Amino acid sequence: MVEPEQAILFRIPWVDDEGNVRVNRGYRVQFNSAIGPYKGGLRFHPSVNLSIVKFLGFEQILKNALTTLPMGGAKGGSDFDPKGKSDREIMRFCQSMMTELFRHIGPDTDVPAGDIGVGAREVGYLFGQYKRLTNTWTGAMTGKGLSFGGSLARTEATGFGLCYFADAQLRDNGQTFVGKRVVISGSGNVAIYANQKATELGGKVVAMSDSSGYIVDENGIDFRVIRVIKEDKRDRIKTYLDYVPGASYVEGCHGIWSVPCDIAMPCATQNEMDEHDVALLIQSGCIGVFEGSNMSLTPKAIAAVKNGGLLYSPSKASNAGGVAASGLEMSQNSGRVSWTFEEVDARLKTIMEGIYHACADAAERYGMNGDIQAGANIAGFLKVADAMLAEGICG
Ligand code: NDP
Repeated sequence: MVEPEQAILFRIPWVDDEGNVRVNRGYRVQFNSAIGPYKGGLRFHPSVNLSIVKFLGFEQILKNALTTLPMGGAKGGSDFDPKGKSDREIMRFCQSMMTELFRHIGPDTDVPAGDIGVGAREVGYLFGQYKRLTNTWTGAMTGKGLSFGGSLARTEATGFGLCYFADAQLRDNGQTFVGKRVVISGSGNVAIYANQKATELGGKVVAMSDSSGYIVDENGIDFRVIRVIKEDKRDRIKTYLDYVPGASYVEGCHGIWSVPCDIAMPCATQNEMDEHDVALLIQSGCIGVFEGSNMSLTPKAIAAVKNGGLLYSPSKASNAGGVAASGLEMSQNSGRVSWTFEEVDARLKTIMEGIYHACADAAERYGMNGDIQAGANIAGFLKVADAMLAEGICG
């Protein structure tokens, strides 16, 4: 299982607005197809390399298994930096990427989606090029726009799902979101909708960040303002002060964990919380850390959280809501139907609560009561390993 079935590396040439030829590197690691077509996002960020794509792809195998939907594991992306690029440049880049990627994907083979730097706009350009090249309209990508096969509630799904999971774990431990101070790192897709749901469940989100710095608003950060800044204006989070002058801004994103909170939700990127951050959280009386970004905590931070007696949810379980809604988008596309927002949201909630209980049960069954990380690894592994054994070895 630790060996990818295949890893594809390719060149992505494109022309910028000044007429210069640029070349980026593209990746797709198709890790495991035992329980369904490969499934996992594409990331556009200068830090993307084969090592990052591989760890994300491996995690995706277990995560997808936990959703109970038939999806294998994959991940992909490019070292392309979308920041500061015009719409036309983004379009040309996406079209060039798909000009190679299309031969490796398809609705029954591999179904990519978004991730860091890849939202509805990028998925639209990628999907459009796939459609042109294959002369088919199929659900070969998820995260599509609503007018061309996208699912209602897919945009909200990862952030909402994170809060449904955290709520289930909190309740199982005699707690709720009500009246809790919540700190959420990042201000992208996952962070914005985690803010919305955490607030709806009775929490108060007092800090959020981007890669430049973080904001603190003791009155609670309205997710709608962050959505305007990040989704409509594609601006920096410090401009929050233009909308809410009473808030404060601190340069440098790492310090966000020094803001006192009851619930911490890292939703930016991998390894964004270390053991020193955890020490600060413990000092401030934090009761739980729930991962929204993939592998948010370093191994030392995870150990510190567990030793400190805080609740902890690993990303492969608590951020599975995005891929779960993608699985629901695939079902809708195959059946040529569209479900309502409420229908998708209700299924998402059921899936996330189911994942929490599957992890908790597996942990208990294997003598690690309360260790949701161990439970997630065991439950995900068993499902995929059983399928791999049943399908036989060919070589
Ligand atoms: P977005 O691109 O929408 O937002 C990412 C956010 O994190 C931005 O605020 C960005 O700030 C910040 N960020 C990115 N890289 C860094 C970095 N190296 N250091 C500090 N801050 C950083 O991405 P998503 O919200 O979609 O994804 C966030 C995380 O959630 C990722 O780990 C992703 O893999 C994971 N995830 C996402 C899913 C989804 O459905 N979108 C599903 C499952 C997991 P800035 O704008 O300044 O770069």
